[in-house]
Parts: sequence; C-alpha cells; structure tokens
Amino acid sequence: MARFSAWSVFKNGLSGQQSWGRQWRDPEPQKQYDVVIVGAGLHGLATAYYLAKNHGVKNIAVLEKGWLGGGNAGRNTTIVRSNYFMPGNRQFYEHSLQLWENLSHDLNYNVMFSQRAHISLLHSPSAMDAAARRYNTMRLSGTPAEIWGLDQLKKAVPHLNYGPDARFPIIGAAVQQRAGTARHDAVAWGYARAADQHGVDIIQNCEVTGMGRTADKVSTIQTSRGVIKAKKVGLAVAGNTTRLWQMAGFSTLPIESHKLQAFVTEPLKPLLDQVVVFGVGGTHFYISQSDKGGMVFGGDLDWYKSYAQRGNLPIVQDVAECAVSILPCMGRVRLLRHWAGVMDMSMDGSPFICKTPLSNLYLNAGWNYGGFKASPASGWYFADLIANDRPHETIQHFTLQRFEQGVNIDERGAGPDPKLHG
Ligand SMILES: Cc1cc2nc3c(=O)[nH]c(=O)nc-3n(C[C@H](O)[C@H](O)[C@H](O)COP(=O)(O)OP(=O)(O)OC[C@H]3O[C@@H](n4cnc5c(N)ncnc54)[C@H](O)[C@@H]3O)c2cc1C
Repeated sequence: MARFSAWSVFKNGLSGQQSWGRQWRDPEPQKQYDVVIVGAGLHGLATAYYLAKNHGVKNIAVLEKGWLGGGNAGRNTTIVRSNYFMPGNRQFYEHSLQLWENLSHDLNYNVMFSQRAHISLLHSPSAMDAAARRYNTMRLSGTPAEIWGLDQLKKAVPHLNYGPDARFPIIGAAVQQRAGTARHDAVAWGYARAADQHGVDIIQNCEVTGMGRTADKVSTIQTSRGVIKAKKVGLAVAGNTTRLWQMAGFSTLPIESHKLQAFVTEPLKPLLDQVVVFGVGGTHFYISQSDKGGMVFGGDLDWYKSYAQRGNLPIVQDVAECAVSILPCMGRVRLLRHWAGVMDMSMDGSPFICKTPLSNLYLNAGWNYGGFKASPASGWYFADLIANDRPHETIQHFTLQRFEQGVNIDERGAGPDPKLHG
C-alpha cells in the first residue's frame, strides 16, 4: 500500500484523486489464528497494530460485529489529556499522550491531533487547592501543568460567563497545554490501515456469538461467519464486555454498561480554541470546537444501565443548561446532531488490562468515558500483555483482583458506584 506523503498527494491530484487504492483489505476469516482480538474499536485495532509492530506476532485477526469504528470509537467527544493523579493512571495516561504526540507519523495517517490545551474551570478555593495538589503531582512526575488565575483565563477564553450573576462563578482554572483533541474516526482508520499493512486480518460484519471452552482455555470462537480457532483471545469490546464475559462461561464483572451522549451544533466561526471543562454542584460539562466549526460537547451519563446506542431527552436538557450557563452565547445556536455510546463503567473508574481465569483469554475493558485518550497506551500495554503473558509494571494494578486486594484506583474519589466515575 502506498505511503501518504506530500508527493503522493500531489501525484494523485494530477489524476483527479481517482487513483487512491483501498486503505485496508476485506479478507475472509481463516480457520485459525495465533491471536484473535474481538472488537475493532480503537483499543482492539491499536492492540493488533502493536502486537504486529512491537512483538512481531504474525497471524492476527480483529473480529468486529459491525463496521470498524462504529462503536464508541466513532462516537466520543475526542478529548485527549493526561491530567491524572493516581499512581498507575498517571504513568499510563502520560505514556498515552506521548504516543499521541507521534501517532500521525507512526501510523503515516493524519489523525488531526491538536494540542489546543485542556482547561478545567475552578469555582471555589477548595477546588483550587485540590487542583493544585493534582497538577503539582503531575509536575513532579514530569508532566507540565499550570494553575491560572482569573485574569489569565479571561485573556485566553474571554466569552465564558464571568458576569456577577453567573450561575457558576469562576475563580480560576487548571490547565494542561499539551492536551487537546484528535479526529476519532481518523484514529480508527489509521490504526486499521497500519495494522493491515502488517498483515492483520480485520474482519467486519463478524459477530462473536459464543465461545467453546475447556477447563482452562477458550478452544473455539463461534462467529456469524463460522467457527474460528485461536491460540490467544483478547476482548476489547467496551460496553459489550459483560456479554462477551458471559459467552466465556463467567457470570459477573465489576462493570456496568451505561450510555453516554454527545452533541454537535451547526458550524460557527472560530469561537473556542481550547477544550473547556467544568464540573461543580452536580454538573458535568466539556466542550470544544471541531475543525468544521461545530461545537462538540457532552455531560453526564444517562443514569441507567442499557446496551442501547441512543440516549434520552432529560440529558439533552441537562447538557443544554450547562452549555448556556457557562457560554451564554450558545443560547442561540442550533443543535445539529446527538448520539450515544455504551460505556463500560467500572466500580472505581479505572480500567482493566489483565489476564483472566482462562489461560489464553485476556481482558481489556472498564474505560468508563475516558477511553479515547487511552487508546494508544491501551493497545500498547494490551499487546505487551498478550505477547509476553505477564503484565507490564505500569498496568500491574489494572486487574480484576484489585478490589479483593483493596487497591482501588479511584481517580475521582467517588466511591464504588460506576455511574459516578465520569
Ligand atoms: C459520547 C461519548 C463521548 C466520549 N468522550 C470521550 C472523550 O472525550 N475522551 C475520551 O478519552 N474518551 C471518551 N469516550 C470514551 C471512549 O470513546 C471509549 O472509552 C473508547 O472508545 C472505548 O474503546 P473502543 O474504541 O475500543 O470501543 P468501541 O469503539 O466501542 O469498540 C468495541 C467494538 O467491539 C465490537 N463488538 C461488541 N460486541 C461484539 C461481538 N460480540 N463480536 C464482535 N465485535 C463486537 C463493537 O461493535 C465495537 O466496534 C466517550 C465515549 C462516548 C460514547
């Protein structure tokens, strides 16, 4: 497959852009693979790519029940940051951000990663203190981070609601300049194309419907396109993890599937250069502006468990209220679209990249609604786990056993309720 370059863009321009080939193959499933990854979202595709690239594994398939990137991969609000506090999370998300910083070059695909800064608004002295603790911890471990006063914030984002009657008065902000956004479907396509170049079979419209087992192994994978055997099987199915877990013969997981909505408005002239986030008094809201001009934003979960990829009206109202309370000029903007994805919410808000009770079954799940930013590192460490059959030190606590051992990684301090870990 041709590499993308300024020269290839020029050359294809001469033939009216008619000569671009397919970006990845559409292979028939083989009877047997060394590694099968279930789920062609970002985590599954990244895992296949790093398995082939970093570990030289040949004979890999990614099985996808729909089309690649049709799950949460193509539904998120694309925020990428590494402002984490807890040991384990901090190193993991910083590694992810570093992978993001070189991802377009690595994949030879423009994922439109834009380091436009992530600004968390602060509304009280105690919130300033808590943010200073978190952001100083980041600085001590080598991740640049800043706390801004009101004057600096007003210069950077002049049209937030600073008025005397503001519903949520702002007193400062915690800022990560290296954070930003990327184009989510380009990330899926970039990983798919690069994995395909390494010989990975990406098989769409291939739903896993069951698993055959011996006492300690997955022996066969039943799919809508026939039975497939695999020496190793990795699950990366986000909100469907509990379903696949049951197919493997287990009962429960410390995960609940909840839906999360995202919203985009009609295109506007440039209004917001950064990602702006606030959460105070029960609200939760994040917003950025896409390259096409649409305001892209979201808020809380829909508050009840479901596998449906659609949301409900109360959250539309809730999020719209947040939008106009912080950016009053949004009041006259029309909403263009909204949609939902199914989130794999874990009990402490942190993920699982781990072995399972079956010796050849590996689990990647529990991304809550922060898995987009995690995609590169998630694939990197999951590939490392599958290839070497032992967890890397950085992910040593991303296990199912951590709750038994009392090593919860509760970034928000919200307690054991999956709904509260946004
Ligand atoms: C509205 C919304 C906003 C979000 N905003 C952000 C954000 O701003 N920043 C951030 O970091 N994260 C965000 N997220 C979270 C992030 O999108 C997810 O955590 C991440 O995409 C999950 O990993 P994935 O891409 O692999 O999942 P998915 O794309 O959901 O991939 C899982 C795949 O598995 C497939 N599958 C399921 N069952 C089967 C089966 N039986 N057989 C075969 N295939 C199967 C599905 O079809 C799907 O394609 C958001 C999510 C949503 C929904």
